Amino acid sequence: MNHYNTIIIGAGLTGLQLAKQHQAAGKKVLILEKSKGLGGRIATRRIDEMGFDHGALKLNPSENFEKLFQELNLKPSTLENGIYLAGGMSNLAKTMAAGLEILREKKVTQLKRMDDQWQLNCEDQSAFTANEVILTAPVPQALELIDSSHIALAADHPIRSIRYTKALILLAVLKPEINPQSTVQQSTPSNTHRIYAMNERGLHPQGLVIQFSPDFSELHFEKPETEIFSAIQVALTADGFDLNAIQKHEVKKWRYSIATSTYPEASLEVAPKLYLAGDGLVSRYLRSLIP
Ligand SMILES: Cc1cc2nc3c(=O)[nH]c(=O)nc-3n(C[C@H](O)[C@H](O)[C@H](O)COP(=O)(O)OP(=O)(O)OC[C@H]3O[C@@H](n4cnc5c(N)ncnc54)[C@H](O)[C@@H]3O)c2cc1C
Repeated sequence: MNHYNTIIIGAGLTGLQLAKQHQAAGKKVLILEKSKGLGGRIATRRIDEMGFDHGALKLNPSENFEKLFQELNLKPSTLENGIYLAGGMSNLAKTMAAGLEILREKKVTQLKRMDDQWQLNCEDQSAFTANEVILTAPVPQALELIDSSHIALAADHPIRSIRYTKALILLAVLKPEINPQSTVQQSTPSNTHRIYAMNERGLHPQGLVIQFSPDFSELHFEKPETEIFSAIQVALTADGFDLNAIQKHEVKKWRYSIATSTYPEASLEVAPKLYLAGDGLVSRYLRSLIP
């Protein structure tokens, strides 16, 4: 019952798109996702029952995305040099997930080659088998799983050099009397952060998402949360942001945010029928891996 042609690890954009393509090619496909939600780094969360986009706030436009949005009948909006979905970025993942078999809160902790197939063991002791496996986690996380499963991959393999920027994000709920747009406009443009008002996206009417630069995030990422928040306060104050406008806040950390280099192929077969894919591999997460 737990056997599939293809098991995809991760329900981010890569995993969802590849699952659709493999399913359309007639394969029995399962996605195993460790989190409660879908979308991976495309993420919308709720505070006071209202949404905040706290992962990617936009995606770089491409022909593939245009085609995908058309197929899904979604109308993206434009922002600077990117596109986003009003009502929450995670609507993209939710729409892509329709018709796919996805199990959430299934963290794959071990991959075992047995006869001609793969066995995938999960943290909750469940197990699945498949003829082929596609691993779509950010490359360093994918390599952790490969190494802890004792799958041989050379220490100097070029895939091991793929790195990601870190991202610190402040989710802020402004006091009811504060106008989010005026807060955004009053702050001077900054090298350390970008401020996005959530009401412009039909999300939390008093919500701001403040995304900190890779350099700032790298500098403060490993510190305790109170110290991170102090550094954030200093940076925001320096740029004219009135901290008294904030009623409550949460800090979100992304250890792997954007790949700074990419492996030059769309997928890498690290062992028989075990593939790596995702944005660490030429950013072709919307390209089919099916020959
Ligand atoms: C703060 C931030 C800002 C960004 N800004 C931009 C931008 O401006 N423009 C742009 O184009 N892109 C941007 N991105 C990057 C973009 O979000 C990613 O390139 C894209 O979402 C990657 O999708 P993916 O499916 O390849 O990976 P992910 O979305 O990371 O999906 C991988 C999935 O695998 C799951 N997983 C991992 N390990 C396991 C396991 N062992 N078992 C089961 N499941 C597992 C994870 O939970 C996750 O859901 C940004 C990302 C962040 C975080």
